Amino acid sequence: MHRLMRIGIVTACAASLVTVVPGAASPAAAYCFKGIGRWKGDRYTLHVRRDIPRGWRSSVRNAMRQWSGIKGSKLRYAGPRFASTARSPAFQIFRANFADAGLPDVPGIAFGTDTPRHTSSSVALNTRFHWNTKGRMSQRARRTDVWTIAVHEMGHSSGLAHPYASGGCGRPTAAEKAGVMYVNWTRKRYPNADDRAGIARRY
Ligand SMILES: [Zn+2]
Repeated sequence: MHRLMRIGIVTACAASLVTVVPGAASPAAAYCFKGIGRWKGDRYTLHVRRDIPRGWRSSVRNAMRQWSGIKGSKLRYAGPRFASTARSPAFQIFRANFADAGLPDVPGIAFGTDTPRHTSSSVALNTRFHWNTKGRMSQRARRTDVWTIAVHEMGHSSGLAHPYASGGCGRPTAAEKAGVMYVNWTRKRYPNADDRAGIARRY
């Protein structure tokens, strides 16, 4: 749910940034780029590390595909390459115990998105939550749907921020709140028109 400046550096989600994206209140344009970069290029291959369970593969693949080939956008994702041992892939997803790593107690984090044009991004999923592939989300029970969290974090990797007022993006509209980049602990597997418009704007 968070994105961080770099691996090992913990920060709040652009809480101190103030610029509002023009047109942020309009439906289908209510995305937020505040404090987040985009990929330098527009073609990347997702590497799925071996610590991601086999049973999660279709959720991870489906999450990745949501951001690839959006109408009006040149961004394309290839793969995923499962059980990857590639040394330093540009785009990867793995699991980690966030408590042990000194990271915030959130389900997921996207790293590497601080530069205006990033060349790598890693999505980490926190082993301290109870993961499922059935779409179940519960903050109280710490229950998290792989697809929902993966699509959100990959949205950060792709260049979308949270459309939160606290992030400097104005008061979110109903459409923004329905987007996958707005966290409300419900199943959200498909980027909506606002999320997709953001990607089309960036690529
Ligand atoms: Zn987030």
